Amino acid sequence: MHYKMKLAEDNYRHKGLRQQMVNQLRADGFTDERVLAAINEVPRHIFLDSSFVEYAYSDQPFSIGSGQTISQPSTVALQTSLLSVESGKKVLEVGTGSGYQACVLAAMGAKVFSIERQRNLYFRTKEILEQLPYRVKTFLGDGYEGLPNWKPFDRIIITAGAPFIPPKLVEQLKAGGIMVIPMDDGKGGQTMVKITKQSDGSLAREEFGSFKFVPMLTGTAND
Ligand code: SAH
Repeated sequence: MHYKMKLAEDNYRHKGLRQQMVNQLRADGFTDERVLAAINEVPRHIFLDSSFVEYAYSDQPFSIGSGQTISQPSTVALQTSLLSVESGKKVLEVGTGSGYQACVLAAMGAKVFSIERQRNLYFRTKEILEQLPYRVKTFLGDGYEGLPNWKPFDRIIITAGAPFIPPKLVEQLKAGGIMVIPMDDGKGGQTMVKITKQSDGSLAREEFGSFKFVPMLTGTAND
């Protein structure tokens, strides 16, 4: 028997909490109104276990099972802003996790292709995404490999801590394209790095502060 999970409702209380969260992000200095509008639209509580609904709209990361976390809203806001998403852009995400970041990108009009290495998370999130009105194509696989059958991408966003810039992802990024990647800093955290691929193939690099992500691992896993 195929079991379809039922999504939590999105009521006025949730919408109010979401508006407050967006106001807080604005007060904290986020100025990209297109990103804030997408965050205001996507019901973040739906991506968390129901026991966390009360906390869905505070600026915290949360467990989503399989030892993984949904990134905190301010991190989603920053990564999304750095990505300069426009309607119709093809975006590759590494680390589908809960699916929340993917939906924020899709709410901005991006065509999102998202890879997850953990089987349980992949299936759980696929089922949630099928019930939401966002265009996100999900894949079970290893983000280090990218999606050679769907390349090239205008944008690539990595949502796990990377030990190096995966060469296959650079190859799958269009000239002029942007990759946002949290790079291991050798001290247990990551530095947010924005990479722009120049027309001659060289990479321009800018840094945007310290973060703490779960690690980007290789292969796929069954837990
Ligand atoms: N973007 C997610 C946050 C995910 S946390 C969200 O919005 O909820 C990071 C995710 O990256 C985890 O689910 C982890 O399993 C996944 N991950 C780690 N290494 C990976 C790899 N090599 N390929 C694909 N996914 C990976």
